[in-house]
Amino acid sequence: MYCPACNNEETKVIDSRLVEDGRAVRRRRECMACGHRFTTYERLNEKPLIVIKKDKSSEPFDSNKLLRGLMTATAKRNVPINVLQDLIADVENQLRSSNKTEVTSSVLGDMVLERLKKIDDLAYIRFASVYKDFKSIDEFADAIKGMN
Ligand SMILES: [Zn+2]
Repeated sequence: MYCPACNNEETKVIDSRLVEDGRAVRRRRECMACGHRFTTYERLNEKPLIVIKKDKSSEPFDSNKLLRGLMTATAKRNVPINVLQDLIADVENQLRSSNKTEVTSSVLGDMVLERLKKIDDLAYIRFASVYKDFKSIDEFADAIKGMN
């Protein structure tokens, strides 16, 4: 298991528990080199999770791609990378635990936004402007108002 922060190969498991009625193991890991902590889920017979895009094409769920999007949205906002990784793990886990094998990109975007809103307001707006594809400045203003 490679550390997502520094790519060091040695990590230790600091917590391990069964989740989803025993169908998955959630592990909290810590990097032996940099101390970075992250969460992994291991599942038996894991089915691929497919994302259906707006143009109806599909692609496998890609947590790295999502992480890159979130890192762009949170640029210069000092949001720790492990917070973003936990957000993604939480979204993926919610989808998997509901036994879904397909999700539309807009539902996926909403799930991310719901969590991002609690983390950073500006990142929320940046991410929303990409994912929600705002059609007008009014829609964008509504989203900002909804943040309080
Ligand atoms: Zn590390």
